[in-house]
Amino acid sequence: MVGFREECGVVGVVGDPEAAKLIYLGLYALQHRGQEAAGIITLNDQGEFHGHKAFGLVGDGFTNEILSKIEGRTGIGHNRYSTTGASRMVQNIQPFSFKTPLGSMAIAHNGNLTNADVLRSQLEAQGSIFQSTSDTEIFMHLLAKSKKAELLDRIIEVMSQVKGAYSLLLMTKDRLYALRDPFGFRPLVIGRRGACVVVASETCALELIDAEFEREIAPGEIVEIFPDGFIRSSFPIQSPRKAFCSFEPIYFARPDSKIFGEEIYSLRKRIGANLARESHVDADVVIAIPDSGVPMALGYAAEVNLPMELGLVRNHYVGRTFIEPSQSIRDFGVKLKLNPVGSTLAGKRVVVVDDSLVRGTTSVKILRMLRKAGAKEIHMRLGSPPITHSCFFGVDTPERGQLLAAQQTIDEIREFIGADTLAFLSLPGLQDALGKGNCQNYCYGCFNGDYPEDTCRVIEKQPTDALGGPGLRSGF
Ligand code: SF4
Repeated sequence: MVGFREECGVVGVVGDPEAAKLIYLGLYALQHRGQEAAGIITLNDQGEFHGHKAFGLVGDGFTNEILSKIEGRTGIGHNRYSTTGASRMVQNIQPFSFKTPLGSMAIAHNGNLTNADVLRSQLEAQGSIFQSTSDTEIFMHLLAKSKKAELLDRIIEVMSQVKGAYSLLLMTKDRLYALRDPFGFRPLVIGRRGACVVVASETCALELIDAEFEREIAPGEIVEIFPDGFIRSSFPIQSPRKAFCSFEPIYFARPDSKIFGEEIYSLRKRIGANLARESHVDADVVIAIPDSGVPMALGYAAEVNLPMELGLVRNHYVGRTFIEPSQSIRDFGVKLKLNPVGSTLAGKRVVVVDDSLVRGTTSVKILRMLRKAGAKEIHMRLGSPPITHSCFFGVDTPERGQLLAAQQTIDEIREFIGADTLAFLSLPGLQDALGKGNCQNYCYGCFNGDYPEDTCRVIEKQPTDALGGPGLRSGF
């Protein structure tokens, strides 16, 4: 998989004296969603926010000493992959903390607002001064400017103003709010660890800290989590359809996570099996481009009863900067990450399974390496349809002009990457793998340009009293 990048991961903890350490571990499990920077903010017993932010991986930016200073029973954390805003600005590292007439708050956001530019211009025209280039700050300004007396009403008002993707955590001095946009583009799950409530982007974060998965937060839902672990839920915004990002199961989410009602590993194997049913040719061996292509290749190989072998070994320890010898080495960058296994490839007809193809430039280099290692035939198989459109909902995609499948025919792409045959999974094949009862709930915008219509509407106002009213309040 080349070209699409992760977005962000969020973790929230309510009701544990070691909240910061649990958040740290949760962020560690969600590292695949963002490696640019990480941050944690907690609420201490004196009612003050404090925390730490650092560029780079969670494990590098947080030491035991730092974590032991971030006291408190409630907190939120964020792994950043920059989709909006300049990435190397410390001001862009989340969570953000801010003051409103209703008190101090901290916010962590996964997703992208599609009307961020318009809202930002309007807010600036009204005198708002932005500290960062992140669209998450728009939430803060809108919350602070709202005239509503109750915070829940302010959140509902902001949800009716912003468009696009957000799975978002908002911490105040007396509770944690977890909300998901009405389309549900990005995942958000909730679990319990004894008396403590945990919210995270994916279930793999819950599992690392022994929190039991309770459920996914639904599209358009606001969950209020109180310090004693009680939860109240409301659904103030409705959308006529859901639009889970289909790239979450194809590529972003960890295979051991369960999101959008599915275990990702099983789903990817179904993708591989459908790919084989649609486009298998005679071959000797199936290999994957690691890591995300592995479950798909397993599904493919099982479907056609072929051995799946390790054809490429990945170096997991590649850093950000490399020193290249002055005499340039061909395909240097990709060789740092992947190296072919000669005995798997020499003289073989090889099916190579990957999850998707974006620009195709890395595929050219990988296939050249496979040929050099002796592969007799290379049959490239992609576990998603051709990507012909950009994403506006938090996935870092190139402009349409740089999307190979938007510019070339399948045969032109095959020739460009140097494969003997090339096939993509069809959209019906993907939808079949996503499940007959669930596939209509997904966004396929980058495959067909059919972006979800923004026809959300605010429904009747929900009660705002702390624990009463028809909002669901559950305990343990
Ligand atoms: S356009 Fe593509 S990447 Fe963006 S949310 Fe939709 S499916 Fe996901």
